[in-house]
Amino acid sequence: LQLALEGVQQLMPYVPGKPAEELQRELGLSEVIKLASNENPLGTGRKVAEAIQNTLPEIARYPDGSGYNLKTAISARWGVDLAQITLGNGSSEILELVMRTFVAPEHEVVFAQHAFALYPILTQAVGAKAVVVPAKNYSHDLDAMRAAVTDKTRVVFIANPNNPTGTLLASQAVEDFIASLPKSVLCVLDEAYYEFVDPAVRTESMQWPIQYPNLVIARTFSKAYGLAGLRIGFGVSSPEVADLLNRVRQPFNGNMLALAAAEAAMTDAEYLAETVSVNNAGMAQLTAAFTALDLPWIPSSGNFVSVDMKQPALPVYQALLQKGVIVRPVANYEMPNHLRVSIGTERENQIFIDALAQVLQSV
Ligand code: PMP
Repeated sequence: LQLALEGVQQLMPYVPGKPAEELQRELGLSEVIKLASNENPLGTGRKVAEAIQNTLPEIARYPDGSGYNLKTAISARWGVDLAQITLGNGSSEILELVMRTFVAPEHEVVFAQHAFALYPILTQAVGAKAVVVPAKNYSHDLDAMRAAVTDKTRVVFIANPNNPTGTLLASQAVEDFIASLPKSVLCVLDEAYYEFVDPAVRTESMQWPIQYPNLVIARTFSKAYGLAGLRIGFGVSSPEVADLLNRVRQPFNGNMLALAAAEAAMTDAEYLAETVSVNNAGMAQLTAAFTALDLPWIPSSGNFVSVDMKQPALPVYQALLQKGVIVRPVANYEMPNHLRVSIGTERENQIFIDALAQVLQSV
């Protein structure tokens, strides 16, 4: 199709995790375990379920296009001004809005090797040039990323923690990096997995956009808050940047159920604490099993871990599928020997571990 923009013609699709129902149908299995999309294994929280029930009678109406109630809750929780917030259809939309608002085909976009797969896709979709900076020990090399910034650079993506490596950058290092950028370069600090990071070491980033008006922080309700299926996330930036993003976004990009659910999720401290505690226990369970199987893994600050199969991972992935266990191959991240596994419940993790141990004897 000659009509498509040049960048779009060469675009590789984002490949999501295989849906569990599909595999279950294909193989006629009684149970399928999905540890492939970094979702919350606890399912829907009680407060969220109630909020959705209470909102259902309203859905013939348009949602509040300004997202006032949710923004007020975010503002109170994070100590930021309402005017600094942009709501998105998942934090993916925040990333996309930044690109559509600021990046043209003559620009460059800098991100790290092994960084989240949406960055190259969004860059290509707007026809800009991707500058991929080699990682250092699977982590972003901030010095090299700073050195890669040129007059043409418009956006730099930092994922902290990064998906699929789970690597975490020190708060001070990230702040120093942002401070070092020319004011004409926007830094997108993608903190989708923020809530899983040990509070002793996580960035206290929410106050930074006042000092650094070229910073956009992206957060999501998809992971720790358990709302991946509803699609809601937010950006925090200077009011000037938020104003531009809000002009570009669709007027009703946050749907009514998502807005109500996110607001309710923010009040459910118990669900969030349980989520983090299940994640910490599950991370210990999985990594202990990897050690026992003599498989190296990349220490992760997220709700997933990438483990080295010491051989091409695709046959292992496929053999696990046959046993009804869905994980994520990450060859598209230049990690052909790794599988990324989301942390599940204790039972799900054990089913995966048992299946992996069996599969490794046959591949
Ligand atoms: N950033 C990172 C690093 C992610 O891993 C993800 C989800 N895979 C997202 C952003 C986007 O998530 P969502 O659109 O559901 O908020």
